[in-house]
Amino acid sequence: MIQKYSQTQARTDITEIARLCYERRYICGMEGNFSIRLEENLILTTPAGVCKGRMNEDDLVLVDLTGAPKVPGQKRPSTELKMHLTVYQNRPDVKACVHAHPTYAVGFSVAGVDLNQYILPEVVVTLGKIPVAPYATPSTDEVSNSIASLVKEHDSLILDHHGALTYGGDLWDAYYKLETIEHHAQTLYVAHTLGKVNTLGESEISKLMKTCSVYGLPQPKI
Ligand SMILES: [Zn+2]
Repeated sequence: MIQKYSQTQARTDITEIARLCYERRYICGMEGNFSIRLEENLILTTPAGVCKGRMNEDDLVLVDLTGAPKVPGQKRPSTELKMHLTVYQNRPDVKACVHAHPTYAVGFSVAGVDLNQYILPEVVVTLGKIPVAPYATPSTDEVSNSIASLVKEHDSLILDHHGALTYGGDLWDAYYKLETIEHHAQTLYVAHTLGKVNTLGESEISKLMKTCSVYGLPQPKI
């Protein structure tokens, strides 16, 4: 569902979800950034150099679709805002983005182990394939370039040796995708540790894809 946000609701959702990400250790220190598109050319986002777990609603900043500040004297937006803007520029349907550094999911990219082993039906149905964008120097245009070709086809990405980027019709939608990625990565890690990963077969995957239409879900890319 696409949510039409009031600025008040957007400020509440960003601070609440940022705190959840901090408490669940998807981010630590000053890490992570969050944004909501309020209007076609108006984005509410998180500031640089602030712990997102202790942030106030007043710390949030307003920028346009190029990242230029809309309010004089406000805090500086995150240097990682560029990747959010790349998503909004390429996906008119997206209203919110979450960027965090979930340990297990990123650990798979660090180890060079494929996260796309289909083991949990719910993950297959909600996320489909979770592509890994090639390594790019954080906070530079390299990140935007590394995700540009993937953004149109997927709603959840892993950034190699870096983090996860999820987005959707509202900020909770984006947050739940992040939770699902990390839950999947943890489960896969446990299976690897126990010594065997039994993946779902092609016929199971194909049956799951058919259930998407039954529940009115868009069929994800596998
Ligand atoms: Zn990051």
